[in-house]
Amino acid sequence: MPAAFSDPVWCKPQTVASYRSELSGGGTVDAVVVGGGIMGLSTALHAARAGLSVQVLEAGALGQGASGLNGGQVIPGLKYDPEWLIEHFGRERGEALIAFAASTADAVFDLIRDEKLAVPFTRNGWIQAAHTETALKAAANRDRQWRARGADVRLLDGAEIAAMTGAKNYHGGWLDRRAGIIDPLAYTLELARAAASAGARIAEQQKVVKLDKEGALWRVSTQSGAELRAKSVVLATNAYTDGLLPGLARTIVPLHSFQIATAPLPAGLASAILPGGQAVSDSRRILVYYRKSGDGRLVLGGRGRMALPSSAADWAHLERALVRLYPALADVAIEKRWFGRVAMTPDHLPHLHEPEKGLLAVVGCQGRGVGLMSALGRRMADYLAGGDPGQLPFPLSPIRPIPFHAFRQIGVAATIAWYRALDAFER
Ligand SMILES: Cc1cc2nc3c(=O)[nH]c(=O)nc-3n(C[C@H](O)[C@H](O)[C@H](O)COP(=O)(O)OP(=O)(O)OC[C@H]3O[C@@H](n4cnc5c(N)ncnc54)[C@H](O)[C@@H]3O)c2cc1C
Repeated sequence: MPAAFSDPVWCKPQTVASYRSELSGGGTVDAVVVGGGIMGLSTALHAARAGLSVQVLEAGALGQGASGLNGGQVIPGLKYDPEWLIEHFGRERGEALIAFAASTADAVFDLIRDEKLAVPFTRNGWIQAAHTETALKAAANRDRQWRARGADVRLLDGAEIAAMTGAKNYHGGWLDRRAGIIDPLAYTLELARAAASAGARIAEQQKVVKLDKEGALWRVSTQSGAELRAKSVVLATNAYTDGLLPGLARTIVPLHSFQIATAPLPAGLASAILPGGQAVSDSRRILVYYRKSGDGRLVLGGRGRMALPSSAADWAHLERALVRLYPALADVAIEKRWFGRVAMTPDHLPHLHEPEKGLLAVVGCQGRGVGLMSALGRRMADYLAGGDPGQLPFPLSPIRPIPFHAFRQIGVAATIAWYRALDAFER
């Protein structure tokens, strides 16, 4: 595919280290982390801070996975509201999960502050915009549950959301002031810098192709022929999971999320559209999410086709959504278009696995992994450092491939088409 068809808007920090791609064979470390995205780098940073020797191996360049391509919306919480979590996990585990979910945006902003990461950010909240009265009722229910737990959230009426977004036709919405926006590529690369300065070793262009048990250690082999030994291995490959660990790729449904960015907005429009700098997701079944970038563009994303895009026309549905929200943007050029992969699990929760002692895997970001993976990385590092598995926010579960996985993709495509039709009907 021509590079022009995946051209993200995000910026590398001014000084970016390059990470060696050659590895001297035969070394032994406490932990090898496979995958250099937010999950892998957060794990590496916290594990190195805990005194472990760590080697990150990334198949390509750092940030080339979802972590450097996403919308940069830092949203706390999971897909599920607190009462659902208690109902399904019981009071004790449910409350622990709620506390973890509530902390995931803090995990990002605390890291930016504590590690002095050079990451452009704004922390003025995330708006879940209700496109129907039913969606507004669901937002009120969510608001009640989080407010009961002291979260800094509130409901917005139609006039308030119109003033905050500059978009028309929303019935109201929900403002979660714990949330914010970052430049995700800068964040990923700065996490790598912090991990390296804490002592973690990082290598790009090192695809891991084989894992073998060798006594109490794992032998990790890369495509380039390098070998390392490690007490533990963490697979942080998420939606880009390959066949390294049999069955793992079949536990997730990878979907494409597409994004567009306008040219920098002219002053009049910039002050009318998202003047407070919030992030927004709407309440449609096939939702769109949007925000302004540091250089004043409107960045909007949503579900994209399952096949790789082949021309700018593959982003046309997002351009239509943009103009539906902001008719005044009809004449503003779309300058960037890109896409990445998101990993969904059937229960919409992240899955943590340890199929054999010292072999760990984390998959299933559900498109909300910036905060989630930052926070999970810290918990994973605690576990590597000798922590109790009960302190992991999600239970370690067996790897259970989705039945008829190959057909699931077709089912998802059909469901998306059906949901789009329902969304259009409710417009
Ligand atoms: C377009 C898009 C928009 C999104 N928007 C948001 C958002 O606004 N807010 C939000 O919270 N979340 C968002 N997400 C989700 C978020 O980006 C992810 O949840 C998060 O980045 C996952 O991080 P990760 O480190 O687990 O995986 P990744 O960043 O995908 O990293 C996995 C890495 O593993 C590497 N790898 C795979 N196999 C191997 C191997 N065999 N050897 C070595 N390396 C390997 C890959 O090259 C890749 O770099 C979005 C995702 C996409 C794609």
